[in-house]
Amino acid sequence: MTLITLEQFGNNIKEMMKLCKGRKLLKRLNDSPMIYKIHATNEGYSHTNRALTDVYIDPNFHPIINTTAGDQLASTTRQLAHELGHLTGVKDTPDPGDRMDNVNTWENPIMEPIEGYDRTTYDTIIPMPGVTSTPDE
Ligand SMILES: [Zn+2]
Repeated sequence: MTLITLEQFGNNIKEMMKLCKGRKLLKRLNDSPMIYKIHATNEGYSHTNRALTDVYIDPNFHPIINTTAGDQLASTTRQLAHELGHLTGVKDTPDPGDRMDNVNTWENPIMEPIEGYDRTTYDTIIPMPGVTSTPDE
């Protein structure tokens, strides 16, 4: 497999590689026969495609997320960890029971050592007055 990383996200990948869980995720994707691609977009949200081969990250998109340290802006590295986590087949599971499978399996274990807090809900608020959204896919 090939994980094609745009130069733009090289530093985010390097940040993820510092942590055991981040290395584990990237190794798993690297060991897969699939070809994955990371695209930079200006779509105003971050997501994967249905085939779970491509990740789309808007480097200017930083929604407010609920965390153990209060409201925080979601970093590009956090969104990358989240969306790359989806490529392993782990889904967002907000209902029932708020299991938050992808956040608990990949996003938080990768990002808590880097940023010092865990995401606690799937709710996000795009930091523009009056606009709320749950852009996760
Ligand atoms: Zn998601």
